[in-house]
Amino acid sequence: MIVKLAGPDETVLQAVSAALEAMGGQVRLLALPYGTFLAALGLEHPALKPIQAMAGVAWARPAGSKPILAARELNPGGSRVQLGAVSVGGETLALVAGPCSVEDREQITSTARFVAAFGATALRGGAYKPRTSPYAFQGLGLAGLELLREAADASGLPVVTEVMEPGDVAAMAPLVDCFQIGARNMANGPLLKAVGQAGKTVLLKRGPSATLAEFVLAAEYILLEGNAQVILCERGIRTFETATRNTLDLNAVPVLKSMTHLPVMVDPSHGTGRRDAVAAMARAAVAAGADGILVEVHPDPARALSDGDQSLHFPEFRRLAEQLKPVAEAVGRRLELPESLPFAPHQVPLIRRAMGWGGSR
Ligand code: PEP
Ligand code: MN
Repeated sequence: MIVKLAGPDETVLQAVSAALEAMGGQVRLLALPYGTFLAALGLEHPALKPIQAMAGVAWARPAGSKPILAARELNPGGSRVQLGAVSVGGETLALVAGPCSVEDREQITSTARFVAAFGATALRGGAYKPRTSPYAFQGLGLAGLELLREAADASGLPVVTEVMEPGDVAAMAPLVDCFQIGARNMANGPLLKAVGQAGKTVLLKRGPSATLAEFVLAAEYILLEGNAQVILCERGIRTFETATRNTLDLNAVPVLKSMTHLPVMVDPSHGTGRRDAVAAMARAAVAAGADGILVEVHPDPARALSDGDQSLHFPEFRRLAEQLKPVAEAVGRRLELPESLPFAPHQVPLIRRAMGWGGSR
């Protein structure tokens, strides 16, 4: 069962914990931004009434097949989750951008500088890659993560990167601002628990065949470890359609918002798999009320080691950011676009090439 205390009163906390333990429950204290809770795993219905009747208990709910901690009613105004300077779920739109995979220093550094200069609020890049084929590029691992951190620091951005194994969490944590749980791992309980315990912001992607109810329950795993910093990300589901890599389910935005208080981002890159469809679906997602957008950007998509077909060229990213701004404003959100470039174009050869700025500048 989950017990909500009326307040963070130490005496009440001790008394209720003792009562739950005496009944045989394994008690865990969860201090979340929207209340103090005690989770008593393994303790159900018969124990509910006496606990409910205790002084200082707001309610006691049986654990079942529905989310409790992630449910919208727990925080009807919506939760805010910190990702660098942006409070995701607030007025400012989050714009997470970067390559699918970290490939080398120049690739990630030039991308970081470029996306930071044109409105990104976080840098993404995979160091540990969940590839469909075991023969495809698997990522640079820790060396890639170090390059990602260095590039992000040089551009003043927080790092979003995927973790695939619980055993990697501790080594990655010092270099990461936000752990991404990839679509293929959405329902990986041990991994969800491990990032819950790490206490860092988590970007949880929807599994390609997960229902929204299953998606919110996956987030519940993380909250149940006492980590409230969870952002959901719709990234397309598997349907009969073959013209796109996935079908971006924008229904998910308003419907998730009715189900849960957690912020909802949208990834139109994996959602479509096609560069020519990314900007349109990003604009649609913002119009639908998404709290942020995640897009793949590469200095030379034709040569990308993963997901080149869906990665934006630098000028396309700049155009997208400019297009998102008025859409965001039309639905009461904000996107800050820096006014001046924080670098001289000649400093970064790849940016020069990707922008078509020519050899002499
Ligand atoms: C990614 O972000 O590069 C990725 C692998 O995403 P997903 O888990 O949504 O496929
Ligand atoms: Mn990718």
